[in-house]
Amino acid sequence: MTFRTYNGNTHTENGWRICNSDQCVTLWYAGKPVLVRDGHATTVLKWWIDWYNANVEPIKSQIWGWSATNDVPGTPGRNDGSNHLSGTGIDLNAPWHPWTVDASRNFTPGQIAAIRRGLALAEGNLFWGQDWGRKDPMHFQLNDGTASGNGASAKLAAFAQKIREGKVGSGGTAQPPSPSTSRPTLRRGSTGSDVNYLQSLFNRAYPAYSKLVVDGDFGPATESVVREFQRRAGLGVDGIAGPATWSKLGVK
Ligand SMILES: [Zn+2]
Repeated sequence: MTFRTYNGNTHTENGWRICNSDQCVTLWYAGKPVLVRDGHATTVLKWWIDWYNANVEPIKSQIWGWSATNDVPGTPGRNDGSNHLSGTGIDLNAPWHPWTVDASRNFTPGQIAAIRRGLALAEGNLFWGQDWGRKDPMHFQLNDGTASGNGASAKLAAFAQKIREGKVGSGGTAQPPSPSTSRPTLRRGSTGSDVNYLQSLFNRAYPAYSKLVVDGDFGPATESVVREFQRRAGLGVDGIAGPATWSKLGVK
């Protein structure tokens, strides 16, 4: 059970510790192995793969999970690299859902609705790469806020327990699906996980001008990236991430 540093970082974008393969469990889908982070992370990711397989489309190719290296290594010291490095990201049916291509091009509306319904069941513990500015519709991951120390947060552990008790996705105790998650308006002085999300989103989608420290603190640097984005996107430049800015970022 060992951890490591990759490209100057100890953690990935969602806060999980970067690990070696001995921190992972091997699952088998489509006759091929996939490594995912052990413990509660395995429970939740396996639940999602099974749910996706049953409700969205069959798993038809090898799932990509934990990886030792990644094309999104993160910036040294910023802990903003790919969550595959911590075994908390998975790519489903990758050949059919290429990186940077919007989900509407390779999923039916019904499939997209099914994914949204499933994500709504996950109580904020799962994130879909489609919701990044640079679309990654094959990609799902444990959300920011699901890690604590070197392992799972209490929130993730509680959700994993519900899965083990068969209380998720049964329709009996689940929340009704919400059509979209709305993001709050963020401005100078805002703090918290939505700011973390915004900072990671900018770094990932617009690395040419966004090299923010992902600290959940909306300060002058974050404001200046928002302004740059707004200027390039033809929005009113006010440095405030409101509905128009979120929408241009591709986040509903
Ligand atoms: Zn991925």
